[in-house]
Amino acid sequence: MILIDGKKAAAELRAELKEEVAELKSKHNKVPGLTVILIGDLTPSQIYVRNKEKSANEVGLKSEVIKYPDSVEEKTVLEKIQELNNDETVSGILVQLPLPKHIDKQKVIEAIDPSKDVDGFHPMNVGNLSSGYESSIPCTPLGCYLLIKKIEPNLSGKKAVVVGRSNLNGKPMTQLLLKENCTVTITHSKTKDLKAECLEADIIVAAVGIPELVRGDWVKKDSIVIDVGINKTDNGIVGDVHFDEVSKNAKALTPVPGGVGPMTIACLLKNTIDCFKRSQI
Ligand code: NAP
Repeated sequence: MILIDGKKAAAELRAELKEEVAELKSKHNKVPGLTVILIGDLTPSQIYVRNKEKSANEVGLKSEVIKYPDSVEEKTVLEKIQELNNDETVSGILVQLPLPKHIDKQKVIEAIDPSKDVDGFHPMNVGNLSSGYESSIPCTPLGCYLLIKKIEPNLSGKKAVVVGRSNLNGKPMTQLLLKENCTVTITHSKTKDLKAECLEADIIVAAVGIPELVRGDWVKKDSIVIDVGINKTDNGIVGDVHFDEVSKNAKALTPVPGGVGPMTIACLLKNTIDCFKRSQI
């Protein structure tokens, strides 16, 4: 079984991006800039943002974090986004989710200029992705896609099953696999026989949020299994895939942690650089 090493893949991607940033700097005399807005003091959000800032600095991006207290008014955040939309030194804007209840998430997402939407959540980018046009692609599914392509460069005709249909993971993942000419089944909480669906798959991407949902006898031999899940349990962090069982059948499998997670941040940097490059055309 191939253990898909997301840490190594992310380090390789960051090294490539670092070189690209250096080239862009010498060509344009400026570097891409990423601005993250962090609202409130949720510990996981603070950790994510710290890691994003550290990685952005590592590859040579200009990075900035704007922090607001939980009580910040929606209007203040929307005005700041408008200011960043108009700031030429900012290539990418990310508002760390989740947001406090009094702030309308969709309003915030739609306030970001689609050309600076490094999370790929703006309806314009969602639509472009599903139409097969150039767009920002949500970072986690993009990371999954790059890991799958490392194992199997030609996905044409493969049968893929995506477990979970969130806007963040399942739906964009489906679009990326369709673009590669996979035959894709998207499953969710109302799917009648998830095991039977998974047993058909050459590729399984599990993004559910249920610890170890995908079992060893759900996957056929030689399948590629990507585990997006991050679930806190009494036994530590586990994915949506039963690692020990599935590793006995699958051809390749991502561990949790150390699989998809590190690729998510590396893809955020990639998206920032891609937004910068599109703005220079
Ligand atoms: P989400 O928004 O809660 O969506 C979960 C999806 O799973 C929904 O579509 C839901 O179906 C489906 N589902 C629930 N129970 C199911 C079942 N028994 N069988 C099949 N499908 C079922 O979750 P998310 O934001 O996509 O996150 C999923 C997991 O990925 C979480 O563990 C999260 O922490 C993790 N995550 C990891 C990263 C990373 O960087 N590695 C990034 C983001 C998220 P319905 O639509 O019918 O409700």
